[in-house]
Amino acid sequence: MTTSSTAPVAGSLPPAPDAKIAMGWMHTARFLTTAAQLHHLPPIHVPEIAFVGRSNAGKSTCINTLTQQKQLAFASKRPGRTQHINLFSLGKHGVTDAVLADLPGYGYAKVSRSDKVRWQQVMVNYLVSRPGLTGIVLLCDPRLGLTELDEALLEVLRPRVEEGLKFLIVLTKADKLTRSEQAKILSITRLNAAGGEVMMFSALKKQGVDEVAQLLWQWAHPEQAAVAAAGALSDAAGAADASTPDADEDFEQN
Ligand code: GDP
Repeated sequence: MTTSSTAPVAGSLPPAPDAKIAMGWMHTARFLTTAAQLHHLPPIHVPEIAFVGRSNAGKSTCINTLTQQKQLAFASKRPGRTQHINLFSLGKHGVTDAVLADLPGYGYAKVSRSDKVRWQQVMVNYLVSRPGLTGIVLLCDPRLGLTELDEALLEVLRPRVEEGLKFLIVLTKADKLTRSEQAKILSITRLNAAGGEVMMFSALKKQGVDEVAQLLWQWAHPEQAAVAAAGALSDAAGAADASTPDADEDFEQN
């Protein structure tokens, strides 16, 4: 479905699951609840992954593309819902094993200054204090790069990422850039990613979709991912044993 140029950079995570498994899991997303204030959010006892970004960065389109549902995240754009945190459950057979949190886009020009400040505060509180928060996906339009608000958010996140919070910057609308522009913005953003990962993404060209889904699956299933890694390691060791000539045989042949 996607190109390999967006594969996760080498890091601490074990090998990704099959893309079909990750995409099937993403497709189970269903609306859970919406809340205007942090303390109205229900406690969640499974990994929670938050999507944040400037208004118009392509966050709703990204969530809809990952979940293969046309309207899921656009529900949060209905009047009255734009300043809510929307939660979506994920998990096969109706059993929730992770939650996606869609946070309101920031920097929207038509919002009053007081509303902007209030929302930035809610977001900062959420990012700093939400129990069970496992990972953050920051959506960014690569033609704008990381804006001042994105940088401010990165500063808030940095200590939490250092403590182990997973972090991914998704550079959206990749189809609007040439391959060399993509490579350039990828390396620049990686330098500023506070230790997180960076991937290119295009909803239009379906670029990076599998890779993002696979990474989120890994975040939400660390134990299964570790078992898969152990399996892959022992397979690799077996293959190496089979292909390495036995030392004695070598000696006799010489
Ligand atoms: P949000 O405000 O962050 O939720 O952004 P949206 O998902 O509503 O997207 C903002 C605009 O960018 C819309 O006009 C989308 O059609 C457009 N857009 C989003 N993703 C892509 C993409 O992958 N490629 C292109 N060309 N346009 C995109």
